[in-house]
Amino acid sequence: MKVYLVGAGPGDPGLITVKGLACLRAADVVVYDRLASPQLLHEAREGAELIYVGKAADQHALKQEEINELLVRKARQGKVVTRLKGGDPFVFGRGGEEAQALAAAGVPFEVVPGVTSAIAVPAYAGIPVTQRGYTSTLGIITGHEDPAKEASDLDWAKIATGLGTLVFLMGVRNLPAIVDSLLAHGRAPDTPVAVIERGTETAQRTVTGRLTDIVERVRQADIQPPAITVVGEVVSLRDGLRWFDVKPLFGKRVLVTRSREQASELSARLRELGAEPVELPTIRLAPPADYAPLDRALGALATFHWVVFTSVNGVQYVMRRLWENGLDARAFAAVRLAAIGPATAAELEKFGLRADFMPTSFVAEAVAEELPVHGGERVLLPRADLARADLAEALREKGCTVDEVIAYRTLPHEHSAAEVRALFADKFDIITFTSSSTVRNLAELLQAAFGETWRDELAGALIACIGPITAGTARELGLQPDIVAEEYTIAGLVEAIVRYYQRNTEAAPTGDCPS
Ligand code: SAH
Repeated sequence: MKVYLVGAGPGDPGLITVKGLACLRAADVVVYDRLASPQLLHEAREGAELIYVGKAADQHALKQEEINELLVRKARQGKVVTRLKGGDPFVFGRGGEEAQALAAAGVPFEVVPGVTSAIAVPAYAGIPVTQRGYTSTLGIITGHEDPAKEASDLDWAKIATGLGTLVFLMGVRNLPAIVDSLLAHGRAPDTPVAVIERGTETAQRTVTGRLTDIVERVRQADIQPPAITVVGEVVSLRDGLRWFDVKPLFGKRVLVTRSREQASELSARLRELGAEPVELPTIRLAPPADYAPLDRALGALATFHWVVFTSVNGVQYVMRRLWENGLDARAFAAVRLAAIGPATAAELEKFGLRADFMPTSFVAEAVAEELPVHGGERVLLPRADLARADLAEALREKGCTVDEVIAYRTLPHEHSAAEVRALFADKFDIITFTSSSTVRNLAELLQAAFGETWRDELAGALIACIGPITAGTARELGLQPDIVAEEYTIAGLVEAIVRYYQRNTEAAPTGDCPS
């Protein structure tokens, strides 16, 4: 038994530490609260007990004593408990109190420090909290103190003038009182101030001003907790150092409709560019209903001249089946391999197989035309159940014998209408489609959730398609594609989205509030 008090970082799930992630993955019980990035919970192992003890501002879901007791109780049951806390557990996180309770109860614990919002949130706004020539002191201060309190615990005279950079946590509601206290105790009125809402997240918003006008600017922008306030000359560095909220797709909410297995590459690329990917898998991959045709082909690979792989999934399912049948990559020794694109070729490489041929364009017609096959040769085409027949037909026209076998099926992924409605409650900026099935299946999900007016849910969102065939399916269903990738790959799709925004600069995202 052990309790790990783990800092989860301020919001960006990438800001948890390596050690913290290991604790999360090892936990039998995860006790978490509101500030912890919800995405991190996917890292918990299957079957781990997830307990929410979140605190919203002004209301405690579970009293601190109850949380302490919970940690002790679960640990005493012999469990490995990871207590996930926003930012760093010992910076205004009451982690110290939890550690005291564990120590008093004789429960072993470890503290895994986290990336505190006090430093990380300014960093994501382009503000270094210390800087040579500006200041070498930093104060991290609670902004939570009741302004009506008669005798303040804070020595405002020293805070106002004794420190360079001041970072206030939990201080949105008290901002007017904080500013008054600083001014009353001698801080220069023209001191730059930044208030950063939901820092390190794709929803990050920043308001900058000076002590004299920041209260009004924050009111106008309607800044809500969680937010931090940075006071000091270093705030002026932001103009030259912004890097996060100026990313090409910053703040864009993007629907990813690929299968769960395949979504991660697209999501990762979008996140890298500042977007917020939201995954709603519309496709579920499944083995073929009948393996016999594939098994027969795999047992007679030497009789084929070519095997043409048209997807990463195809490679995975074929290789898995081959292995199950007691064979391995050597079965391909006498046959030549074609991959429809770089991702498929890369998947083959994972199994130690080199594609002998890759077409210059990733559409069926081009593959058939360029593939150096001769009349009379036998081609094996392992494919999805719903794949188009164009490639097989084009190869047959060249005089080949083509064996099409189903290697996997793409089934519609079911989601409850309630789940779909919840995701669409917030507007999307971009809807991505990576195959015709994703278009059809999303249309069905939306129809089930919203009825005949389902297209209204996509109004205002850009429709981005991986290629002309997918775009054609979108048009058939009454959706107007705004973006069609020129290179029919995930990278090509993302590039096309970025280029769209570059062309339409007035639609460019910005994390700065107008002032
Ligand atoms: N232990 C945490 C702080 C907990 S107190 C840490 O080290 O970061 C909660 C306060 O932290 C909030 O009121 C807010 O002021 C600040 N905070 C936490 N996450 C934040 C975020 N993503 N953006 C802005 N402020 C944040």
